[in-house]
Amino acid sequence: MGDRPRGVVLVDLEPPCRFCGTPLRHVFADLGMSPVANDNVPASEANAMEPYFPLCALVCAECFLVQLAPFQTPRPLFRDDYAYFSSFSTSWLEHCRRYTEEMIGRLGLDACSQVVELASNDGYLLQYFAQANVPVLGVEPTANTAQVAIDKGIPTLVEFWGAEIASSLDTRADLLLGNNVLAHVPDINDFVSGMRIALKPGGTITMEFPHLLSLISLNQWDTIYHEHYSYLSFSTVRRVFEAHGLRLFDVQEVPTHGGSLRIFGCHAADDRNQTAAALEMLEREAAAGLGDVQTYLDYGQRVMADKRDIVSLLIDLKRDGLSIAGYGAAAKGNTLLNYCGIGRDFLDFTCDANPHKQGHVLPGTHIPVLPPDAIAERKPDVVLILPWNIKDEVMQQLSFIREWGGRFAARSPELRLFE
Ligand SMILES: [Zn+2]
Repeated sequence: MGDRPRGVVLVDLEPPCRFCGTPLRHVFADLGMSPVANDNVPASEANAMEPYFPLCALVCAECFLVQLAPFQTPRPLFRDDYAYFSSFSTSWLEHCRRYTEEMIGRLGLDACSQVVELASNDGYLLQYFAQANVPVLGVEPTANTAQVAIDKGIPTLVEFWGAEIASSLDTRADLLLGNNVLAHVPDINDFVSGMRIALKPGGTITMEFPHLLSLISLNQWDTIYHEHYSYLSFSTVRRVFEAHGLRLFDVQEVPTHGGSLRIFGCHAADDRNQTAAALEMLEREAAAGLGDVQTYLDYGQRVMADKRDIVSLLIDLKRDGLSIAGYGAAAKGNTLLNYCGIGRDFLDFTCDANPHKQGHVLPGTHIPVLPPDAIAERKPDVVLILPWNIKDEVMQQLSFIREWGGRFAARSPELRLFE
């Protein structure tokens, strides 16, 4: 019994690791059955049958890639009307503008360079390189967001990234970047192998993704959702890149999505030295136990305890006769609401500034999504901020709720009230 790990271990299903093929047996977080978190339902379809899929993150005991257990879907997860437009978040745009300035300076990019962005969305980032006269190319699988970029004058291919599309390009990248895409690809090997093909000798890769260490230490299990296949540490990504002839030589921590990494990669043969920051990150992840499967199993227990605490706090508020409204209609809110079973019995409505989400109901819980004005009109006693990564921004925007004694609730990292 001594060596047997504590926590949930699969007994009847051992899918292969998406990276190294090792059979997966260890549960990182089992969030039960859940609808696809970005699939807000048009109000007119709220009475239709709704598909639910298993939402269970496993960890590979060999490479420590945290990944969703396979699930079958009757259609592609990313529908053509996928409503996420990066340009709707002003803080994200500012983050991208600063990144662009930094990269132009650090890499000496000019009119003879080529920047390629994977999952370029609506051209939210490439527009800043284009303004600086650096040639750009976007690759974006979602047709309607890609069209917005094309209309802005950002050349964009409507494609899923992989080795095949990389081989077909007639250009090679001085800077090949991808923000919040590496975690979203089902076939991480094909994706990274395409990056090696598309990278010019001497070129630089940067990618940003939420850091697994932040997920664990700040208890961000609500960032687990179906479109998010992998949960990444620096150590594991380094291993994946090395398997495909690429090398990570630097890393920065960036505050987006509650704690992300920006990694810097190059061809394996490139002579750039590994920075002290990269070494320090490897050491920090090892010290946090990311090389020990027990760390991951322990986290699964914490998720279950957190659900009990969240539901308990909301029950107390309702027993006191208070009204609760949500703020936000994003994926992480839907993971939380569905896993915890929080429906219209707790939240009267939620609201979102994105007009594409208004007039819909949230998947599973069917909480209506209203414009933000609804807060001032209906004066809820408590506003539950679902996207905790923009908690401060939302509390500032909605500070007027204090006029009627309203309070905020948000996960920080456990759910609590803010006076
Ligand atoms: Zn593995």
